[in-house]
Amino acid sequence: MVGNIHSLESFGTVDGPGIRFVVFLQGCPLRCLYCHNPDTWEKGEGSCRMTPEQLLEEVMRYKRFITKGGVTVTGGEPLMQAAFVRDFFLLCRGQGIHTALDTSGALWNEAVREALDATDLVLLDVKTIDALQHKELTGAKITNTLRTLAYLEEMQIPTWIRHVVVPGWTDDDQRLQQLADFLKPYRCIEKVELLPYHTMGTDKYKQLGLQYRLEGTPELSAERLERAREIFKR
Ligand code: SF4
Repeated sequence: MVGNIHSLESFGTVDGPGIRFVVFLQGCPLRCLYCHNPDTWEKGEGSCRMTPEQLLEEVMRYKRFITKGGVTVTGGEPLMQAAFVRDFFLLCRGQGIHTALDTSGALWNEAVREALDATDLVLLDVKTIDALQHKELTGAKITNTLRTLAYLEEMQIPTWIRHVVVPGWTDDDQRLQQLADFLKPYRCIEKVELLPYHTMGTDKYKQLGLQYRLEGTPELSAERLERAREIFKR
């Protein structure tokens, strides 16, 4: 078994608790309008290919720095390589290393369930709770994300929700309230992270010869972000 890896980051601080070794896997089935990693989209070999054992060996070089954090696998969509994630996380568990998986929940099958079972913390990206808007924003139906959340609840797998607040798309009070109400009953959810839309990464579209379809959308202001956070606090 070999994983297609886009890149590795040895001291990540924004993808889960503590200092983390972050693995970006290659490939994503979604095409989120605001994606700042379009270079991870294409399914392929990425920058390198590693077995779970080789990747663990790389992680172990940094083990003393990540004792209060752990390892995060993200992408792209890491669950496109679910069996690889499962095997890698089981090896990490064997070493007492905390594992986090950053996923959009866009895929649902047996291998995905097994990868989730091997995960200590799931960072589930919920793009919007509105089914029509989900299709517009990501190009895919919301069904599998909701199925994933239901499974996390059933298995009580610790979950953080991540939601990008995009001006003109997901920043109005009504939509934010709708999402907050929807998430409220889930006991598996430990935290909701509201992330402000930003335009970093748009240069990558030019380099890749792709059109950036949110051209002209302003970054989210600090005031709007605070307002969104208030809605969720309530
Ligand atoms: S799921 Fe993530 S990597 Fe995939 S298109 Fe959306 S933002 Fe980009």
